Amino acid sequence: MMTKNVLISGASVAGPALAYWLHRHGFHPTVVERADTIRPGGYAVDFRGEALDVLDRMGLLDGIRALDTEMGDATMVDAEGRPYATLPSAVFAGDLEVLKGDLTRMLYEATRGTTEYLFGDSVTGLTEDPDGVLVTFGHAPPRRFDLVVGADGLHSRTRALAFGPEQRYVRHLGIYTAIFSLDNYLGLRNTGQLYAAGGLAANMFTARANTEARAALHFAAEDLEYDRRDPAQQKRIVAERFAGEGWEVPRLLEEMAAASDFFFDANAQVEMDRWSEGRVVLLGDAGYCAGPTSGRGTSQALIGAYVLAGELAASGGDHTTAFAAYEREMRGYVTEHQALGREGAERFFMPAPTQEVLDLLAAGAPENTRTEPVRLRDYSATAASS
Ligand SMILES: Cc1cc2nc3c(=O)[nH]c(=O)nc-3n(C[C@H](O)[C@H](O)[C@H](O)COP(=O)(O)OP(=O)(O)OC[C@H]3O[C@@H](n4cnc5c(N)ncnc54)[C@H](O)[C@@H]3O)c2cc1C
Repeated sequence: MMTKNVLISGASVAGPALAYWLHRHGFHPTVVERADTIRPGGYAVDFRGEALDVLDRMGLLDGIRALDTEMGDATMVDAEGRPYATLPSAVFAGDLEVLKGDLTRMLYEATRGTTEYLFGDSVTGLTEDPDGVLVTFGHAPPRRFDLVVGADGLHSRTRALAFGPEQRYVRHLGIYTAIFSLDNYLGLRNTGQLYAAGGLAANMFTARANTEARAALHFAAEDLEYDRRDPAQQKRIVAERFAGEGWEVPRLLEEMAAASDFFFDANAQVEMDRWSEGRVVLLGDAGYCAGPTSGRGTSQALIGAYVLAGELAASGGDHTTAFAAYEREMRGYVTEHQALGREGAERFFMPAPTQEVLDLLAAGAPENTRTEPVRLRDYSATAASS
C-alpha cells in the first residue's frame, strides 16, 4: 500500500479515534483542530453496545471505566423542589457514562505520539485533483494530502467546503440546549434533579466525584436567529425563556451568567444522501449527527472511525472502494439512531411525567442499547505496518 497522508479536521471524539486506527493500519494522520487545546470537562456522554467493543480493541476500555460518572437514579422535582418521581439512570446514562472532555483527553493521549496535531487552526479551502487534495489553512502554509476527513461536528466546515451550505443538511429538532458548569451547591451525591414545565426543562447533575455540577436548560423553539459566536447574546435568549420559572432556575440563571464554559446550540440532525465526495469523507456528527436525544452520537463517532479506517486498510488505500464500503456498513445503524433521536425529541418536553411512564422508559432502555447491530469486522489482518 502506498503511504496515505490523511488530514482529519476536528479533535473531539471521531477525529482522534480515526487517527488511532489509521496509524494502526499504516496511514499517516494529521489532525487540525480549531480550538487551541483539547477542551476539558464538558457535558456527560454515554456509550452503548458495540462502542464498548471498539474502546476495548483500542485498549482504552479499562481507562474509560475508571472515569465512569457512576451516576445513580435522578429525581424529578416540582416548582417548589418537591420530588414527585424517580428517573432511572438506565434512561440517560447508557452502558457507561463519562465527561466528554475526559474521553477526548484519553483519545488525544493515545494518539499524540503517532499523530501530528495542529491546534488553533482550521481548513479554509480544498482543491482536489486526480492525485490528492491541496488544503489551505487559516494559519499553516498550504499542504497536499491524499485524503481529507471532516470530523468537525454538526457545523462542519469540511462539509460546507465539499458539499455545500449547512442549511441543506442540518435538520433542527425543535429544542435548544444550554449547558454550563457550576458548584455542586445542592450537595447532590452521584445524582441529579430535573424540573419540567411546558416547553421548558432544567436539570442539574453532579460531576467529578460530586465536587462540581453541570446544569442544562432546554427549551422548545423553531429556528432562532442569533450569532453562534456571541455567548452573551445566547445567555440573554436563555434567561428570557426561563424568567419567572420555579425550582432552582433563578439561581441557575445567575450561575449561567458567570459561567465561562457555556455551551449553547440547537439539537439537530445531519441528513445526507452520501458521506463522501471524491477524496473528502465525513465522519461522526459532521456526516450523520443523530442529535443529543438519540444518546448515540459518541458511539457513532467511535464506530464510524473504526469502520472507516478499517475499510481504507482493507481496500489497500483505494478510497473509492473504502468510502462506499464504509457507507454500506454504517448506513442502517445511523438510520436507526436518527429515528431514535427524532422520537426522543418528540417526547422531550413531557410535562411532569408519572413514575409509571418513567419506569416504562427505563424498561425499554436496555433493549435500546442494542438496536440494529453494526458489524465490527476484524480488519487487523489487512493492516499495513507503519
Ligand atoms: C448537550 C449534548 C449532550 C449529548 N449527550 C450525549 C450522550 O449522552 N451520549 C452520546 O452518545 N452523545 C451525546 N451527545 C452527542 C455527542 O457529543 C456527539 O455526537 C459527539 O461528540 C460527536 O463527536 P464528533 O467528534 O463527531 O464531533 P464533535 O464532538 O462535535 O467535535 C467536533 C470537533 O471539531 C472541531 N471543529 C469544529 N469546526 C472546526 C473547524 N472549522 N476546523 C477545525 N476543527 C473544527 C470542534 O472544536 C470539535 O473539537 C451530546 C451532544 C450534546 C450537544
